[in-house]
Amino acid sequence: MLIYPRTCGVCNRASVEARRDDPACAECWQKTRLFTEQDALCWKCGALAPAAQVAVAEDKRSGVRCRRCDAEPWTAARAVGLYEGALRAAVLELKREPHVASRLSGLLFEQGRRPPLAAATRIVPVPLHPKREQERGFNQAAVLAHALAARARLPLDERSLIRTSHTSLHRAGMDAHARRESVAEAFVVNRPRLIEGERILLVDDVFTTGATVTACANALITARAEEVFVLTAARAGT
Ligand SMILES: [Zn+2]
Ligand SMILES: [Zn+2]
Repeated sequence: MLIYPRTCGVCNRASVEARRDDPACAECWQKTRLFTEQDALCWKCGALAPAAQVAVAEDKRSGVRCRRCDAEPWTAARAVGLYEGALRAAVLELKREPHVASRLSGLLFEQGRRPPLAAATRIVPVPLHPKREQERGFNQAAVLAHALAARARLPLDERSLIRTSHTSLHRAGMDAHARRESVAEAFVVNRPRLIEGERILLVDDVFTTGATVTACANALITARAEEVFVLTAARAGT
């Protein structure tokens, strides 16, 4: 059991006053780059828009595109913020302890209820390979999906999408293309009747190259999902 206040997981100086802020102090949360409605993001992949498009008016936001994500099979991806500071600490802690502090689940919910993700009808976590899940004792994406489903009052589906082959996603020397190939066949829908016609909100901890969620989205679309949205706690890179 954790005793409060506990030391901040980011600065190691201040203390986390309340369990809801776990695992960072209020100041470290404030310094973390979170995405708000004021940010101009690529409407599709959620990357911060190039400087030229940052000043775009609020009613034109749905026209902002980075163009690098044009070929992705999902409709839109969003993250709570950048993979840094409090969010990075929260993601790392989630790999150790199956608990989502209410600050993070609140932020996840806020992102998920904005358009276009607001159209989602069913929440599906990115599955962990059963062997990995057995080692860790839980799937951190499922823990996030659980916290979100409780707030969003959407059905949580942890069984329809499964991981079929063990892949080492971040093997040294693998470029983005090789990583994409290695996960391409790793996901399959085993209950297509629960996926058909649904607008799936796919939940994971970090969006990095997008290779994993793209492989999941392809499996879901093959099973006739109407649309796939992606929501992650953090976004690495831009
Ligand atoms: Zn701190
Ligand atoms: Zn984009």
